Amino acid sequence: MECRKCKGFMVQEWCGELHVEDYIWRCVNCGHLLFPALKPQRDAIKALLEMDAAGCR
Ligand SMILES: [Zn+2]
Repeated sequence: MECRKCKGFMVQEWCGELHVEDYIWRCVNCGHLLFPALKPQRDAIKALLEMDAAGCR
């Protein structure tokens, strides 16, 4: 998996604690997040993107 922004390496992480009960892709280089599964919580996902994955491991 390659980051669309910086072409860095992306890792898959479990992010269930942040209302996105699924795996997400996170760029280890720039921190860009990718949500492969679009669930109803789009507002929560938007909020997550804005807070730049703080506390998401
Ligand atoms: Zn990146």
